[in-house]
Amino acid sequence: MSKSLQAIRGMNDILPEQTPLWRYFEGTVARLLDNYGYKQIRMPIVEFTELFKRSIGEVTDIVEKEMYTFEDRNGDSLTLRPEGTAACVRAVLEHGITGGGQVQKLWYIGPMFRHERPQKGRYRQFHQIGLEVFNLDGPDIDAELIIMTWRLWGELGIRDAVKLELNSLGTSESRGRYREALVEYLSAHHDKLDEDSQRRLKTNPLRVLDTKNADTQAVLVDAPKMADYLDDESRAHFEGLKARLDAVGIPYVLNPKLVRGLDYYSKTVFEWVTDKLGAQGTVCAGGRYDGLVEQMGGKPTTGVGFAMGIERLVLMLETLEQIPEEISRQVDVYLCAFGEEAELAGLALAERVRDQLPNLRLQVNAGAGSFKSQFKKADKSGALYALILGDDEMAQQVVGFKPLRGQGEQQSIAWDALAAHLATCVVQG
Ligand code: ATP
Ligand code: MG
Repeated sequence: MSKSLQAIRGMNDILPEQTPLWRYFEGTVARLLDNYGYKQIRMPIVEFTELFKRSIGEVTDIVEKEMYTFEDRNGDSLTLRPEGTAACVRAVLEHGITGGGQVQKLWYIGPMFRHERPQKGRYRQFHQIGLEVFNLDGPDIDAELIIMTWRLWGELGIRDAVKLELNSLGTSESRGRYREALVEYLSAHHDKLDEDSQRRLKTNPLRVLDTKNADTQAVLVDAPKMADYLDDESRAHFEGLKARLDAVGIPYVLNPKLVRGLDYYSKTVFEWVTDKLGAQGTVCAGGRYDGLVEQMGGKPTTGVGFAMGIERLVLMLETLEQIPEEISRQVDVYLCAFGEEAELAGLALAERVRDQLPNLRLQVNAGAGSFKSQFKKADKSGALYALILGDDEMAQQVVGFKPLRGQGEQQSIAWDALAAHLATCVVQG
């Protein structure tokens, strides 16, 4: 195929054979979010570039090198959203729905765009489910976010394969004091740092902590520890969070080097990581950002949130073979009709059954065909039962009811009794 007719590198089609698993995942998360009292918000995919520069921070990987930015026909600089928090904050401010301390518990789902090197678990268009809570500043809500994801891993059957890493970055004051101490220490070891870290030392020194370079890691062993710089408020907040996780029995590891890529975090930061996906091991990440709303021009409003990568979690379900059997079957019943008269009667009968059983997945054969070919299609559809309408059935006003997966002989069911019969033998989702 010529190049112009291919999808853009790192931007993937999600094919029909994959969508059932996506929908199962998304449906499971959406149900949990409903149950915990979160409401969905939908933001545009494109925003003014300035929004991301101001919220995410100029000296982050995203803003420095990962954004899809372009000029529109008005000459405005626009960017395909690389994450959801910035747009969500913009939206709540624009519509005044966090004013006067109003609590908002919001979630969103959709594609994000980052110009990264595509590889397993890392794409240029990827999908996130994200969540943001405004105007609740205690550790109880931070705990709720983590508890909810813990329940999600349990429902998905992947709890044993993920690990929670936790850290506190403190308030912006304590973080500022820590940053100074770190810069002083690292400057004294400047020559032993890798090039990237030397650059970050000037622009975003906390990011040096999550370097992958072994020499820099060696220097960091004796570096000042963030935990020693937490003020009382941050420390109490962090203890409060840990106590709640302990109460529910959620294991975690403290990772003092967890700083997250974005500028806006304060106090709690966390990541759910797995060793099942190779290098792309973070499946869900988030934290508290108490200063962000103000930084974006709003009244002081606390915030906490996370985002999970759908591709990585779907990959995990596949890798760990945690794919529920029912989701791969898309058809319950397949109706075969032979001859024009039977086809017409079949259509009408199918609609009557659908009236009575709105959740039944009933597929009516299209494209006519011989007995053999329609049966083949019925079988291939994965249906549990075939319904058969031929000359004999038409004459008696019945339908042949044939189990396709083993159990039982073919029977005749009166048209009027069909819906009731199906209700007893098909478990409806
Ligand atoms: P990473 O360290 O893997 O680059 P990140 O810190 O940049 O992740 P966040 O901005 O916190 O990621 O996004 C939250 C989640 O979204 C990640 O934990 C991951 O699951 C997913 N994610 C981020 N970038 C990508 C990507 N390019 N492709 C697929 N999933 C991604
Ligand atoms: Mg990244």
